[in-house]
Amino acid sequence: MKKKKNNVVIIGGGIIGSLLALILGLNGFKVSIIDRQKKENFFFKSQSVKSYALNEGSCRLLSILGIWDIVKKNSQPITKILLQQGSSISSIQPFELKFTTDLKKSDHIFNMVEEIYLKKAIIEKIDECSNIEYLYSSKVIEQKIDNFSTKLVIDNGQILNSDLVVASDGYPSSSAKEAKIKYFDNNYNQSSIVGIFEHKIPHDSEAIQIFLPSGPLAILPLPGNRSSFVWTMKNNDANRIFKLSDLLFLKELNTALQNKRGKIEFESKRNMFPISLAFSKRLVKEKFVIIGDTAHKIHPIAGQGLNLGIRDVAALAEVLILSRRLGEDIGSSLVLDKYSKWRSWDVLSIVFFTDFTNKFFSNENYLKKFSSGIIFKLLNNSNTIKKYLMKEASGLSGDIPKLLKGENI
Ligand SMILES: Cc1cc2nc3c(=O)[nH]c(=O)nc-3n(C[C@H](O)[C@H](O)[C@H](O)COP(=O)(O)OP(=O)(O)OC[C@H]3O[C@@H](n4cnc5c(N)ncnc54)[C@H](O)[C@@H]3O)c2cc1C
Repeated sequence: MKKKKNNVVIIGGGIIGSLLALILGLNGFKVSIIDRQKKENFFFKSQSVKSYALNEGSCRLLSILGIWDIVKKNSQPITKILLQQGSSISSIQPFELKFTTDLKKSDHIFNMVEEIYLKKAIIEKIDECSNIEYLYSSKVIEQKIDNFSTKLVIDNGQILNSDLVVASDGYPSSSAKEAKIKYFDNNYNQSSIVGIFEHKIPHDSEAIQIFLPSGPLAILPLPGNRSSFVWTMKNNDANRIFKLSDLLFLKELNTALQNKRGKIEFESKRNMFPISLAFSKRLVKEKFVIIGDTAHKIHPIAGQGLNLGIRDVAALAEVLILSRRLGEDIGSSLVLDKYSKWRSWDVLSIVFFTDFTNKFFSNENYLKKFSSGIIFKLLNNSNTIKKYLMKEASGLSGDIPKLLKGENI
């Protein structure tokens, strides 16, 4: 059997695992990254209909890696957000909450990027980095990690030893399960239907979120007269609507969207994702660390999951690179606890924020209590609160890692 000693082995080569591999590889670490998917899967448009609202911090990290230069031409800034209540209770006052920025100051709130372009650009950069070995179509069949060593056996017979194993294989994660990481979880009994459509009325860089009783509908602008939708609803409704013909589906979507974009037509196929909440009780063990969705799978209501994972990547990379420069053991709990302490508060606050927002807005009873819309009028009239919320959403508040400031480590 072929044996290889790395500094770091990453299980799961989604966007999060791949970004970490790239940063570490560019900083002199020997990295192996393992993903069960074929390389071609990352390049097929039909495999990927998701789009991401990337905040300012995430875009800065991508810029430092030279990825933003590649994806920028296919990105779409969001300069306005319209939050709207859609309710079946007639006594509830409809509310609208508007966030706007001045595009001339290049002061966008988010940047929309389609998953396919982002993954392609990351893989292009990984291919150029000789410190990274990407094992596609591969799975770990044996995982042994203790205080002194790590050993992963891959299904092609290869044995990988390393100073540290990082799990970024999403949720549920077989590597975290093997490492006996426990989770708090909650099934929302909701699914999101996702896709891309073309429309008649230009979006004018505006994102719309309509809070329907069964769950939120987000319409997110893409380059051209195109938008991505994330339509979250109870599982029963989602299963029924997902099975409709394109014509009937688009009719229902346009009704929910109140015809705000005029005539709409599908550009992509649609996909459905089950929605649940899961966050791990710990982020690290000796020689083992979890990042991205493996550590926290959250509701897509605020488009924060990937951004949160990118903050994990930035923090972990900074801790590992600085510790290695000091000659410390990067797999020791002394080093890994720094990452855990740095990330815990941000993770918990986003977990609770998204959970609360979904429960609050997807519930007619809650809405009844707030039918006067006073809170939203207050928010609408307070630029200070709006500015605060936009700063929080930008991923630039608190003690942020260097890469999110656009600085090298
Ligand atoms: C409908 C929807 C819309 C969203 N919109 C946004 C948004 O606008 N903005 C935002 O920030 N976030 C958004 N998110 C969240 C975002 O999709 C996730 O947070 C992000 O994709 C997590 O990336 P990841 O790399 O951690 O995990 P994943 O994307 O789950 O990647 C895991 C990788 O591990 C591989 N893998 C799994 N098991 C194994 C195994 N045993 N061995 C080897 N490889 C394995 C998989 O093939 C995959 O490549 C959305 C989520 C949903 C569901």
